[in-house]
Amino acid sequence: MKDQVEKLLNEIPPYVKLIAVSKTHPAEEIREAYNLGLLDFGENKVQEMIAKQPLLPNDIKWHLIGHLQTNKVKFIAPFVYMIHSIDSLKLLHEVNQQAARNSRVIDCLLQIYIASEDTKFGLDFNEAEELLSSKEFAEMQNIRIKGLMGMATFTDDKQQVHREFKSLKAFFDKLKQTSFADKDYFTEISMGMSSDYFIAIEEGSTMVRIGTVIFGKRNYPQQ
Ligand SMILES: *Cc1c(COP(=O)(O)O)cnc(C)c1O
Repeated sequence: MKDQVEKLLNEIPPYVKLIAVSKTHPAEEIREAYNLGLLDFGENKVQEMIAKQPLLPNDIKWHLIGHLQTNKVKFIAPFVYMIHSIDSLKLLHEVNQQAARNSRVIDCLLQIYIASEDTKFGLDFNEAEELLSSKEFAEMQNIRIKGLMGMATFTDDKQQVHREFKSLKAFFDKLKQTSFADKDYFTEISMGMSSDYFIAIEEGSTMVRIGTVIFGKRNYPQQ
């Protein structure tokens, strides 16, 4: 693990945050990565995150990166650092309520659908703009939208991956000039995984979510 982490930290520019995606891997492996200096870890399931969190150091920043069901928000609201997978107003509303209950503001990203596969969650550009211009969103005090997240199509066609990441960056730039014109905190574009983080960084990523390159292949299937 040490060599892979060092290699990644050398490759990734300093303005891009490395999120170690630890899903399916046990707490001991997370501790090993933590001891190498990593602080940001991504999990895609609430059950797994809440099982590991109490076993590990308190200064770990936990990123929820997978589809989040409304009824599970309450379990992570006390400690989650960032939720990358906001894909509806209803979910955001629940995050806002649970954040308020915990007297905190939870940082979130809107997950935008950019792939040509229909298995991936997310809002399309219109849905995202509708959410952002809703009265309900304007009244939420306990969430902060820090940026966007997207996943490219799983394909060997590099040009397609470039196009999809480019479209997310362009949408981010548009929102930065409109809905978030006076919001300095709107800074993050979470895009890039083990197979495509090079492309994502070229296209303007500020956060890469990398599992396999750090922890090796996962042993059981993930949705
Ligand atoms: C699993 C996962 C990743 C990391 O995938 P790797 O290919 O192992 O790097 C990144 N983002 C999301 C949303 C994931 O579910």
